[in-house]
Amino acid sequence: MLISDLRDRLRALGANPAHESRVLRHWVQHLPMDAGRQPLQGWLPKALMDALPALMAELDGLIAVRSEHAGSDGQSARLLLGLQDGQTVESVLLPRDGVCVSSQVGCAVGCRFCMTGTEGLIRQVGSAEIVAQVVLARRKNPKLKKVVFMGMGEPSHNLANVLDAIELLGREGGFAHKQLVFSTVGDERAFAVLNTAAVKPALALSLHTTDAAKRADLLPRAPRLTPQQLVDAADAYARASGYPVQYQWTLLDGVNDGPEELDGIVALLQGRYGLLNMIPFNSAPGLPFKRPDWERARAIAAELSRRGVLTKLRDSAGQDVDGGCGQLRAREAVGRP
Ligand code: SF4
Repeated sequence: MLISDLRDRLRALGANPAHESRVLRHWVQHLPMDAGRQPLQGWLPKALMDALPALMAELDGLIAVRSEHAGSDGQSARLLLGLQDGQTVESVLLPRDGVCVSSQVGCAVGCRFCMTGTEGLIRQVGSAEIVAQVVLARRKNPKLKKVVFMGMGEPSHNLANVLDAIELLGREGGFAHKQLVFSTVGDERAFAVLNTAAVKPALALSLHTTDAAKRADLLPRAPRLTPQQLVDAADAYARASGYPVQYQWTLLDGVNDGPEELDGIVALLQGRYGLLNMIPFNSAPGLPFKRPDWERARAIAAELSRRGVLTKLRDSAGQDVDGGCGQLRAREAVGRP
């Protein structure tokens, strides 16, 4: 189901714009029907009120938890979610009241260090299915305050659905624009559309290397923009939207952790409106990369910060539960519990 389908159904049941907004807010914020000064009962048209329990049950049924894997940090959990057609996606409940959601089943970009990328694109995740991941997370954590689009899929390849979800989460979901993070490998069309979006999310740009040829090898079907073009476009968006870019860098042992890359990062990112998140790769069966030593990663982050590029070293949440993106889905596919 798409958010636009849901709006059409509400209107067909007699909802005016205020009714529509209120019902959507109840769904996205996971509020009880009697929340607020005016309970929905008696305020909505009767046909709509009568249809609402079944409609809410239908929305609840868009996704179901197939398995849940708590991280050893005690704050994160990785969820394998079943969609109505039997496909699965992953969501991660993040420390500090966030959730990471998936925008596609599989992904066409084919990053060589990502399990999801090995599958190719299977299907788009609908806008209502994206929001349903957030509603589910809110049921598990009522204090939820951040949504990042960094799960399975490339959001700019499912742009209309992702932006519809962001608009609903921003207008009715109680999230400020900077609490919604659009993560992309970089795409000219996405930059253009984000600049005119009704709710302008924060931007995360997956850079991974400053060498254009190496990037084409690591991210084989990402748009052919050079790192310089990507950073210029991201920086312009950050300044226009008033919120810094998070540059993402999956640190791969012996691949993008050498001195020439550090010099490239300093040349490219010094003075930019953003920060660099360095995430040591999570080793995964079948992927030809190694996780770098944590102390070495720490030294790299410290050196970059010293040279003027604010760098945060992060571990991806739930990495001890086959936490790389797409690994739970792959594990289920081969019948591992
Ligand atoms: Fe797609 Fe992201 Fe995986 Fe790359 S890292 S293949 S963009 S899901």
